[in-house]
Amino acid sequence: MQKPKPIQAESATLSTLANALHRRGFRFRKAARELPGHPHLVFPRWKTAIFVCDCQHYLHGCPTSLKWSFPDAHTRSKELAIFTCVLSHRGWKVDTVWRCEVSDQAPISSRILNIFDLTVASSADG
Ligand SMILES: [Zn+2]
Repeated sequence: MQKPKPIQAESATLSTLANALHRRGFRFRKAARELPGHPHLVFPRWKTAIFVCDCQHYLHGCPTSLKWSFPDAHTRSKELAIFTCVLSHRGWKVDTVWRCEVSDQAPISSRILNIFDLTVASSADG
C-alpha cells in the first residue's frame, strides 16, 4: 500500500500567515513531521494544527478552484480529509487556511482569531 504523502503547503500563504501569527505573539512549530500529514503550523499550547493549502491543489470550492484545479486535486483533498480526521481523533483541533483567505492583513487577523476561538474585540489591529 502506498504511504500517503504529506500535505503540500502553499508557501507564500504559509509565510504570510506565519509572519502575522508571530507578530501577534503566537508561538508555533512549522512542519510537524511526527504528526499525520505533517501539519504546516502546530500550536502545542492550544493542541491546534493548521494546514495551509492552495485552493487549486485541494478543491477548496471557491471561485478560483472551481474555474480550474490540478488533475490530482480530488486525491489530495481526500488525503487532507483523512489526515484531518486522524488528527481530530487524537485530540487535535485541526483547521485548513486556504490561499484565497489570505489576501490582505484584515482577513488574516479575523481568520486567526476564529481558529483560536478568540473574539475580534480583543484585537487591537484589524
Ligand atoms: Zn479558495
